[in-house]
Amino acid sequence: MIFNVLTLFPEMINEAVSHSIMGRGIRSGHISVNCVNIRDFAINKHGQVDDSPYGGGAGMVMMAPPVYDAYKSIVGEGTSPPVIYLSPQGRVLTQKIAEEIAALPEIILLCGHYEGLDERIIEEIVTEEISIGDYVLTGGEPAAIVLMDAVSRLVPGVLGKADSYKDESFSDGLLEYPHYTRPPEFRGRMVPEVLTSGHHSNIEKWRQEQSLARTKVKRPDLIV
Ligand code: SAM
Repeated sequence: MIFNVLTLFPEMINEAVSHSIMGRGIRSGHISVNCVNIRDFAINKHGQVDDSPYGGGAGMVMMAPPVYDAYKSIVGEGTSPPVIYLSPQGRVLTQKIAEEIAALPEIILLCGHYEGLDERIIEEIVTEEISIGDYVLTGGEPAAIVLMDAVSRLVPGVLGKADSYKDESFSDGLLEYPHYTRPPEFRGRMVPEVLTSGHHSNIEKWRQEQSLARTKVKRPDLIV
């Protein structure tokens, strides 16, 4: 899967995606991240990409032409992959949305800054706005990193084992059961006996019960 990222801070993105599972996914060729620096398409030699808002008010607004030229540098005259604008005004990212995006071969992520983007560039190129939660970030880059992380791990081949995310929280509408590893005792706390019993159907049953019980306590809103 190809992630193109239109950003004023490509270093933030490149650094974040070079580590851990995403870094491995890039090195193995299962995903690729292509950052385009919007400032390379500034309107003048001073690197200007923003201006004060028409109608007055605080802050600066990202201008449409540099964003459009950065976008065109990816798509040329060809058909465009979906463009997702990371925005607090978008649909809030969920596991289901991450699964939908992971089925696409290529996307373009657009990161805003300052007060946000000139509305006309959103109308012109954006397919969908996605938020990572009901709070306001200073820029779209942390949101793009969150989205790419959530999506990448669903791209076949990125996680070591194909079924590593099968039981994970939200994949079946519930939170995942608790995990334990060595040592068998930690500060008087024991590993639940069933997990060391070797009895697979009992372990499976216990995990399902735990999954349901903790969803009821921690996220009752997930149980309809
Ligand atoms: N003035 C905008 C508003 O009130 O809707 C907020 C602009 S915010 C300071 C700057 C940029 O950060 C946005 O253009 C967007 O790209 C990004 N951003 C902020 N909060 C976000 C969120 N919750 N999810 C995704 N992106 C966000």
